[in-house]
Amino acid sequence: NQQIVLASRPEGMPGNDNFEYQETSIVEPQDGEILVKTIYLSVDPYMRGRMSSAKSYVAPFEVNEVIHGNVVGEVVQSKSSLFETGDKVIGMLGWRRYNTVGDASVRKVDGSAAPLSTYLGILGLTGLTAYFGLLDIGRPAEGETVVVSGAAGAVGMVAGQIAKLRGARVVGIAGTDKKTEYLKSELRFNETINYNTTDDLVESVKQACPEGVDVYFDNVGGPVSDAVMTQLNDFARIPVCGAISSYNKTEEDIGPRVQPTLVKSRALIQGFIVGDYAPRFQEGSEKLATWLSEGKLKYEETLVEGFENTPKAFLGLFSGENLGKQLVKVSEP
Ligand code: NDP
Repeated sequence: NQQIVLASRPEGMPGNDNFEYQETSIVEPQDGEILVKTIYLSVDPYMRGRMSSAKSYVAPFEVNEVIHGNVVGEVVQSKSSLFETGDKVIGMLGWRRYNTVGDASVRKVDGSAAPLSTYLGILGLTGLTAYFGLLDIGRPAEGETVVVSGAAGAVGMVAGQIAKLRGARVVGIAGTDKKTEYLKSELRFNETINYNTTDDLVESVKQACPEGVDVYFDNVGGPVSDAVMTQLNDFARIPVCGAISSYNKTEEDIGPRVQPTLVKSRALIQGFIVGDYAPRFQEGSEKLATWLSEGKLKYEETLVEGFENTPKAFLGLFSGENLGKQLVKVSEP
C-alpha cells in the first residue's frame, strides 16, 4: 500500500515538500469493515485551509498524518453485511491506494447511472455547491445579469450553467483564453473576461455587464471581486462560495471597503458552506442528475494519472491548471 501524509504546514503557496509519499501495508478488514481500492481522488481548494492550523469549519490535517479527501473506489474485500466485493463507493477516505474503513464511512454509488467520476464533481459536492449557492442565495431571475468568477472551474462552470437554465445573462471570469473560449463556445456563456490579460478589470466588467450586475457568484475574492463589486445593481445578491485568491496569502488581504456600496445598492452578500444544505442534498442531487441526463448541463474534468501525482494535481488548482473538476485517476474504474 502507499499513502501521502502532510509532511509540514505550508507558508504561503504549498509545494511538493509539504507532502510525503510513504510505503505501508494493507490493513486486513475486521468485522463491519471493508477494504476499498481507490479509483478517483478529488483534490479541492478547501484542503489548503486544512493544511494550516488555523481554526475553520473543518478540522486541520495533522502533520505526519494521512491527508483525507473525497474518494470513489471499489470494495475489494468485505467483512460487512452492507457491501459486496465489486460495489463502488464514495467517502472521505485517506490519500491511500487502499483504505480499510468501517462500513458507515462510505456509501454506494451507481456506476451504471453516471460515470463514477461525476460523483466527485457535478453530481457530488461540487454540483451541490453551485446549485444551492446560486439558487438559494443568488436567486437569479430571467433576464438578470449573473457574473461568476472562477467560472471555468468545477463549481463555477455548474453555477454559470444553472444561471443560464434560469434564463439569466451569464458573464464568466477566468484566467486563460482557453478557458474563456470554452465558456463561450461550449457552455454558451454570454460574455467572458480573462482577468489575467485585461488592463482594466473594472472597465472589462462594465463592458461585459452594460446593465449592471444582479448576481455575483464569487469563487475567488481579491481584485476580481473588487472590480465586480463596483457594478452592482440595486438589491444584487452575492453568494460568497470561496476566496481562492487569498488562500496562499501570508499577509492580510486588504481591499476596498464595500460598506458604502452595499448601503447604496442594498445588496446582499452571504457566505455559505455546502454542508449546511445537507438536509436538501437529495433534492439537489436529483435535480442535477436530471439536468445532466437531459443534456442541459455539461461537465468537464481534468484528470491527472497516478496516485503519486496527487500533490501535483492539488497544487495545480492554485495556478489554474484545471478546466472543470480536477481529479486524480489512481486505478481503472
Ligand atoms: P476550481 O475547479 O475552481 O479550481 C480552482 C480555480 O481557481 C483554478 O482553476 C483557477 O482558475 C482559479 N484561481 C486560482 N488562483 C486564483 C486567483 N489568485 N485568482 C482568481 N482565480 C484563481 O475549484 P472548485 O470549483 O472546487 O472551487 C471553487 C471555489 O469554491 C474555491 O474558492 C473553493 O474553496 C470554493 N468552494 C466552496 C465550497 C463551499 O461549500 N462554500 C465548496 C466547494 C468549493 P483560473 O485559471 O480561472 O485562475
